[in-house]
Amino acid sequence: MQTVTVLGATGSIGCNTLDVINRHPEKYRTFAITGNGQLELLMQQAQKCSPRFVVVADEAKYKEACRLAAEYNITAEILCGAKALEDVSCAAEVDTVMAAIVGAAGLLPTLAAVKAGKKVLLANKEALVMSGALFIDAATQSDAEILPIDSEHNAIFQCLPQGYQYGELEKAGISKILLTGSGGPFRERDLSSFNAITIDEASSHPNWSMGRKITIDSATMMNKGLEFIEACWLFGASPDDIQVVVHPQSFIHSMVQYIDGSVIAQLGNPDMRTPIAYGLAYPSRIDAGVKPLDFSDMANFSFETPCFTRYPNLKLAIDACREGQAATTRLNAANEIAVASFLEGKIGFTDIAVVNEETLNKMEPVTVSSIQQILEQDTAAREVAGQVIRGKFTC
Ligand code: NAD
Ligand code: MG
Repeated sequence: MQTVTVLGATGSIGCNTLDVINRHPEKYRTFAITGNGQLELLMQQAQKCSPRFVVVADEAKYKEACRLAAEYNITAEILCGAKALEDVSCAAEVDTVMAAIVGAAGLLPTLAAVKAGKKVLLANKEALVMSGALFIDAATQSDAEILPIDSEHNAIFQCLPQGYQYGELEKAGISKILLTGSGGPFRERDLSSFNAITIDEASSHPNWSMGRKITIDSATMMNKGLEFIEACWLFGASPDDIQVVVHPQSFIHSMVQYIDGSVIAQLGNPDMRTPIAYGLAYPSRIDAGVKPLDFSDMANFSFETPCFTRYPNLKLAIDACREGQAATTRLNAANEIAVASFLEGKIGFTDIAVVNEETLNKMEPVTVSSIQQILEQDTAAREVAGQVIRGKFTC
C-alpha cells in the first residue's frame, strides 16, 4: 500500500491523479489533498478518497473550508497555509507526493518532499526550472526518487536504457533527446494576425485538456521551452543534447535517438493518466483507464522544425537555459506575470514574449546558489515584469 499526498488535487493533473488512485484502492491510500480554491470540489474529493488532511493553500479561505467540511461530513483535519503544504509533503507516513501545484507556488512543498526523500511525481515543471541544480542536489542527498509526469519527460524516461546513469548520455550511446510538441493552436495561423489572438483562441489546445496557465504556455510554446530546461535537469543533459520536434498529432510523446541509428519512441493517446499511472506504479504497470491507441485511426504522422519567429518564447527559454540558473528563474517568473496579465485582458498574446524578453534584458547577471537567492530573483523578476507591463501596455 502506497500512501500518497496530492499537491494541487483540484487541478487538471490532480483530478487525473485521483482518478487513477480511485481505480486501485487496494494499492494507494490518500494521505492529504491540497487546493487553492474550488473548495466544493476539494470537499467532494475528500468524500471520495478519505484523506487524513485537506489543505487549503489560501489562509483567507480556511473558515469557508471548515464550514464546507462540516456540510460534507468530512472527517479529515483541515489545515491551511504554506507550512501545512510542506508538512503534508514531508510527513513520515507519506511514501509518494504528486507535485501538481501550478507555477512557482509549488516550489517549496515540492522541495520539502524531495528533501524528505520521498518518491516525487513531478508535474510541476516550474519548480525544477526555478531551482535546477539545488533541486537535483537535494534529491541526490536525500535519495528521493524523481519520476517525471510531464508526458514528454515520462516518455523520455521510458525510452532511456535500463540503469541509465544521470548525465551519462554518451556512455549510454544516446545521440539526441527528441522533445516533441504539438505546436499548439497557432501552428498554421497567419503570423500577421497574431496580434488579434483572443484569450478564448489561446485557451483551446487542439489535443490536450489542461489547466489555464499551461494551455497558454502551449500556445506560445513557452511550455516547450520550460520542458527543454526541465529535460536538461531531469536527465543531466546539455542544451546541445536536446532537439525540439513539432509533431502536431501528439501521439508520439517524445523519443531518444541512439548512435547506432535507432530511435526509440513512446506513443499513446494524449491522456495524462498514462504518465501518472506509470509514476504511481513504477516499475510495474497498472490500468490507467486510458483508451488504447488505435493505429487504424491514425491517418497522419507529421513532423516539423519549430520556427522561432512564430514561437519567440521557445527561443527565449533555450537561450536562458544556456545562460544559467538566474535567467531561467527570472524567465519563469516573468512568464507567470505575463500570462496572468494576458488572461486578465491587460496585454495581447504577442506581448507575452515582449514582457519576458524585456524583463530578462533589464536585469543584471547574477549567480544564485541558495533557495533564498532563487526566491529573491523570482520576486525581483515579477516586479520588473510588472513595471514593463505598466510602462508599455497601460495608458
Ligand atoms: P491547474 O491550474 O489545473 O491546477 C493547479 C493546481 O494548483 C490547483 O489544484 C490549484 O488549486 C493549485 N494552486 C494554484 N495556485 C496555488 C497556490 N498559490 N498555492 C497552492 N496551490 C495552488 O494546473 P494543471 O494543468 O493541473 O498543472 C499543474 C502542473 O502540472 C503545472 O506545473 C503544469 O505545468 C504541469 N503539467 C500539467 C499537465 C496537464 O496536462 N495539465 C501536463 C504536464 C505538466
Ligand atoms: Mg508536457
